[in-house]
Amino acid sequence: MNKNMTDKELKDKFIGFFVNKGHKEIPSSSLVPENDPSTLFISAGMHPLVPYLLGETHPLGKRLCSLQKCLRTGDIESVGNAFHLTFFRMLGNWSLGDYWKEEMIPLSFEFLTKELNIPVEKLSVTCFAGDKDVPKDEETAELWKKCGIPEERIYFLGKKDNWWGPAGKTGPCGPDSEMFFDTGKEKCGNDCKPGCSCGKFVEIWNDVFMQFNKTSEGKFELLKQRNIDTGMGMERTTAILNKVNDVYQTESLWPIVQKIEDISGKKYEEENLRAIRIIADHLRAATFVLADRILPSNTEQGYVLRRLIRRAVRYGKMLGIEKVFTIEVAGKVVEILNGEYPELLKNKEKIFEEIEKEEKRFAGTLSKGVKEFEKLTEGKNEITGKEAFFLYETYGFPFELTFEMASEKNLSLDEDDFKKAQDEHQQKSRIGAEKKFAGGLADHGETAVKYHTATHLLHKALRNVLGENVHQIGSNITDERLRFDFTYPEKLTEKQTEEVEKIVNDKISENIPVMLEVMDLSKAKESGALAFFENKYQEKVKVYSIGGFSKEVCGGPHVNSTGEIGKIKIYKEESCGAGRRRIYAKIS
Ligand code: ATP
Ligand code: MG
Repeated sequence: MNKNMTDKELKDKFIGFFVNKGHKEIPSSSLVPENDPSTLFISAGMHPLVPYLLGETHPLGKRLCSLQKCLRTGDIESVGNAFHLTFFRMLGNWSLGDYWKEEMIPLSFEFLTKELNIPVEKLSVTCFAGDKDVPKDEETAELWKKCGIPEERIYFLGKKDNWWGPAGKTGPCGPDSEMFFDTGKEKCGNDCKPGCSCGKFVEIWNDVFMQFNKTSEGKFELLKQRNIDTGMGMERTTAILNKVNDVYQTESLWPIVQKIEDISGKKYEEENLRAIRIIADHLRAATFVLADRILPSNTEQGYVLRRLIRRAVRYGKMLGIEKVFTIEVAGKVVEILNGEYPELLKNKEKIFEEIEKEEKRFAGTLSKGVKEFEKLTEGKNEITGKEAFFLYETYGFPFELTFEMASEKNLSLDEDDFKKAQDEHQQKSRIGAEKKFAGGLADHGETAVKYHTATHLLHKALRNVLGENVHQIGSNITDERLRFDFTYPEKLTEKQTEEVEKIVNDKISENIPVMLEVMDLSKAKESGALAFFENKYQEKVKVYSIGGFSKEVCGGPHVNSTGEIGKIKIYKEESCGAGRRRIYAKIS
């Protein structure tokens, strides 16, 4: 087996392998989805590709591959074990209605055994067991057998393990086939097999066969386009290739662990493992979220960021760290990962400033809050939602943190009670964010698409009224509103706002068709198309034009013509940092 396979070597091998087979490499998207209201963070390589999996034409063709940074809030509670991180990197390849399983399974086998030199004896795989909707995936099992995986290491599991999607309630989905590495540990029991969480079998790669469309009646129809979507975890794969016991002993985490050992004076060994892992993972994740320009707050992405930092700070205290420390850890993250991720270096100052600010904000109240928690729960077997809300309001304890502390003492805590207490204080934002954790991936609803096109009109209207120095910094769309951030030094006057709104609504009334063209980025720019997320685009790009009025490089999707949007109303305008303004608008 390979010794000391570096992250870069693994990436180069994977991307090189698929480029050789006719794939185009696409760059990693930001951790924060653009124009996708249904989820807070990118959680898989396929996520930025949803429109293309649904059938839109990708400018780079039908075969793609990438290394995508991902964040899984759903895995926060698993962090502390050997192989689950919140932030990790996923290698992936896609066939957008091109090749199918007969080609993919041998490719996976070839890559694992020939490129990575993993002995066949170490590999086992799982296939979909079948249910009332979709038959057992014998086809994939046969393909694995043909490659040389013996029957006894091919397992059939149900929907929970071997089915992906759909993203939202409806949409593309299908059975998958997962590849596991046997660590050589003893089985935890007779039932121990791939899918068991004891750590003997580590899942490293998943091939999803997106063949079905789940309808609103819950039926599974065959899709017009059959896609392949795969994901391989980089940290997990380098861990097994380098024969270490966990992902923390790989190159992108080990120096962080050492830094935490240094700061705390505690060793990375049994009694400290969980705390050190949580701190390392959470602060690495927080650093990347900050690098994508999210700030700690009580809503949406900012709230996740806050939870990550505050939980790390609590575990820091539990390890005995007295001083301010997050900035040093973040410094290590920037130092070791800025080569692949220039956004770390670019936003270094801001990352350090904000992580330290958040730590100080919380560290000041943490011990008081812990004391209060002890007092509230003394001799009791529960903590009430009201009390948890009190800790939240007074000491900045995120609900999940109080819940974790309660669990550690076997105390019960009812989340609904907490929400009730929170509602009474009219702080509904966090719950909104929670809903989104459960919400899964985008299905690009009609409303979101309308808002997306409205965003282009707004962007151009702002430039017309305020001048060409206006640049889009970001946008965020929900089913209720659009939010648009841009550069401009001062508050907009009422007259300016009205004027912008009028221009947008005039363009809507004109019912202008929205046209799509695919062209080289340089051509697009020459032709005057706006492209503000430059580093993300390469070679061929999609350009959306709205008559002669607006022209932007953008992934879509958009309405067919502006009349579909309705009418917009700007209902709020505010600052969002020095030299930056934020606008909220609604469709009526
Ligand atoms: P698991 O069952 O271990 O949680 P998964 O089924 O959720 O994994 P997928 O959604 O199929 O994983 O993701 C594709 C690949 O990404 C996995 O095979 C694994 O290598 C990697 N991966 C998934 N979740 C994590 C995580 N939390 N930390 C590190 N790598 C991960
Ligand atoms: Mg998982």
